[in-house]
Amino acid sequence: MYKGTNASAGIGIGKAAIIKEVEMVIRPDKVANGQTEVERFRDALSETVAQTKALAEDLATKVGEKEAEIMQGHLMLLLDPMMTGEIESAITGESVCSEYAIETVCTTYADMFASMDDELMQQRATDMRDIKTRMQQVLQGVKPVDIASLPENSIIVAKDLTPSMTAGINPAHVTGIVTELGGKTSHSAILARALEIPAVVAVNGVMDKIQDGDSVVLDGSEGVVIVNPTDVQMAEYTAKRDVFLQEKKDLERFIGMPTVTKDGVHIELVANIGNPDDLAKVLQYDGEGVGLFRTEFLFMDRTSMPTEEEQFEAYKKVAVGLSGKPVIIRTLDIGGDKEIPYMGLAKDENPFLGYRAIRLCLDRKEDIYRPQIRALLRASAFGGIKIMVPMITCLDEIREAKALIEDVKKELDKEGIAYNKDIQVGIMVETAAASLMADVFAKEVDFFSIGTNDLTQYTMSVDRGNEKISYLYSTFNPAVLRSIRNIITCAREAGIMVGMCGEAASDPMMIPLLLAFGLNEFSMSASAILKSRKMITGYSTEDLQAVAEKAMSFTTAKEVEAYMKEFVNQ
Ligand code: PEP
Ligand code: MG
Repeated sequence: MYKGTNASAGIGIGKAAIIKEVEMVIRPDKVANGQTEVERFRDALSETVAQTKALAEDLATKVGEKEAEIMQGHLMLLLDPMMTGEIESAITGESVCSEYAIETVCTTYADMFASMDDELMQQRATDMRDIKTRMQQVLQGVKPVDIASLPENSIIVAKDLTPSMTAGINPAHVTGIVTELGGKTSHSAILARALEIPAVVAVNGVMDKIQDGDSVVLDGSEGVVIVNPTDVQMAEYTAKRDVFLQEKKDLERFIGMPTVTKDGVHIELVANIGNPDDLAKVLQYDGEGVGLFRTEFLFMDRTSMPTEEEQFEAYKKVAVGLSGKPVIIRTLDIGGDKEIPYMGLAKDENPFLGYRAIRLCLDRKEDIYRPQIRALLRASAFGGIKIMVPMITCLDEIREAKALIEDVKKELDKEGIAYNKDIQVGIMVETAAASLMADVFAKEVDFFSIGTNDLTQYTMSVDRGNEKISYLYSTFNPAVLRSIRNIITCAREAGIMVGMCGEAASDPMMIPLLLAFGLNEFSMSASAILKSRKMITGYSTEDLQAVAEKAMSFTTAKEVEAYMKEFVNQ
């Protein structure tokens, strides 16, 4: 049994199909005529571009527009005049063959990206190596591995699955993916999840451990791979697979069902999204709207700020796509650890306590905040948009943000541009200060959304990304639970809606507590919606009062968690 990273849920059973690229030998062969060689390079480049376009189209129809964007990213790299210029200079300057020039230039870029401490840049490095290999394959007439024609029940085993390989997968034939490299957020992992193929990545030395045709079972939820399983193991995993598939099927009956508890309390069950393309999954899993649109994703992975017009189109698309259902759009939560190179922000000593989110936006009202508010208000004419302000710690921030919104409204009135005059404005309650002031803040805004990811970090003074101290990072800690309960109580006393968009909202052990506290809205990743609806509709908030009381009587996170686990599993 081998351990790896759980990259895509489900059980895969099948025969190993070892995927190995044909090894190409790249030597610094000299060429007689640099100009002729440049022509040879340009032909190969055009061919690679054509192949990439075809892959993008294939992906768009088979998986989705968002996934096809990965190939669009490859196209951008291939068509980057700086890189192709450098390759051509290497060919003419050093009289080397195209393969070698590509090798040196692309590897330099890939190494540069790989050395940056940023996941997106790591991915760029993989992309760069991918296009390098494909250009060289075209030059050498090497056929790329044909993943599309794998037989049924194949488990792909590869060192790393490049996005262009993943694009060729036939989901009806591939029952699992195992790779030696990669991470949970690598493009191949994202594609595996989009195709709903179970996958385990980062399995150390797996290429030496599995032979072509070996029988393999993998558990993509647990990150486990077994080669040539015993009959007992095979029976165990076959049963697990059947349960997984049955559960998935069972959840489909919750599509179209209202989210109402046994004692008749209506809950809003909505989704977290990062860009308009995520809408497809929200509709697929029957989300009742959007509870958090993290707009910073519109600003990342590009070289200049999205214009008011671009933002307007993105917000409008979501509003229209959800036909009037609530769409809570959070204003830019950037800065600190979430860097955007083109914004020219100085490095913060203490990113999480630093110049970020509303602090930055109020400081850069004219170039950053006003265009976003204008885009949001204009888009509000097309659907159920509400504005949400992140990282609030004091009243002045709320008042200043609201004043800007009022100012923009006047501007739009003057210009005769339509918007929703009654647009709701709410805040994320995710700092200790906001939680302690919840009774006061509740009188100033239309709704609260509790951001438990940050609330836990700021309440426990624990960096949410630091593995070493992650034992402190628990929403079950009584300090965090008291904070959550207080926020909900204050909101309800003030008569405003209170939701939650942190990860805790979809934690099966938190849901009963949140229902007991009186949470109105639960916002989570779209794929968690049906499971949560199943849970919520199975409870009565009245019956849960005793459970919450008991949970709140414990004094440590461990005790609360153990108690909730027992309660949920009983
Ligand atoms: C949160 O802090 O809980 C939250 C939802 O926001 P983010 O994870 O984007 O900080
Ligand atoms: Mg947050």
